Amino acid sequence: MSEPLLSVRNLATGYGDLRVVWDVSFDVLPGQVTALLGRNGAGKTTTLRAIAGLNKVQGGSVLLRGSDISGTPAHKRIRAGIGMVQENKRVFKRRTVEANLLLGGYARGVGRKSLRTALDEIYELFPVLRTRASNPAGQLSGGQQQMLAIGQALMGKPDLLLLDEPSAGLAPAIVGEVMASVQQLKQTGLGVLLVEQAVEAAVGVADQVTVLDIGRIVMSGSASELDDVEIIKDAYFGRA
Ligand code: ATP
Repeated sequence: MSEPLLSVRNLATGYGDLRVVWDVSFDVLPGQVTALLGRNGAGKTTTLRAIAGLNKVQGGSVLLRGSDISGTPAHKRIRAGIGMVQENKRVFKRRTVEANLLLGGYARGVGRKSLRTALDEIYELFPVLRTRASNPAGQLSGGQQQMLAIGQALMGKPDLLLLDEPSAGLAPAIVGEVMASVQQLKQTGLGVLLVEQAVEAAVGVADQVTVLDIGRIVMSGSASELDDVEIIKDAYFGRA
């Protein structure tokens, strides 16, 4: 088994001095998806923000390829290979699809030469974005806009992608499309931490599953062990 890309160890985090997450541990391996599940307010986004460097690590540690990055500022974590797509991330609707991708690259400090290669890789992954490259992003479907938001993060050439509820606000039929994109991302060797409330959809692409409730882990294991979605839901709704 390969070495973890990301290891979260006994993480405690929150907002300022307020603690909302306690003793959370899990790994993300290269080419795999770890799904972080749980109901509203469980602490999923807070955990993701601590990994990205947007919330302080109050206790425990965050390791990237074995190096402790718990105190590293957010912009350096991007350079170290962490990409993030925030929940309900909006694209610039009047700008073209390609302009949105390029802006994603500029924002992450990618050099002019690498921008073209990064663009080509994203178009290969999401051919629909190439087809719609010169259309305003606002003309894309909800699912395609989510692919574009993922594409913007990929412009920074991350090894680890933090995806916060990519299914939020999408019709159930479109959620499948977005999860198919996540499946493709795995095949490029990227490690993905997928925060979701849509349990079935997330478990379908996940290799590892961690369920949080009220800031603590209530269940974790490999997706094949936890393939009974009802058991996950019991933990999720505190029925276990
Ligand atoms: P959701 O699906 O609603 O995003 P979540 O599992 O991601 O849920 P978090 O957003 O991590 O949950 O919230 C965890 C707890 O932290 C909640 O009790 C929430 O009220 C609190 N919280 C979130 N943002 C802040 C903030 N900026 N300041 C203080 N507390 C916050």
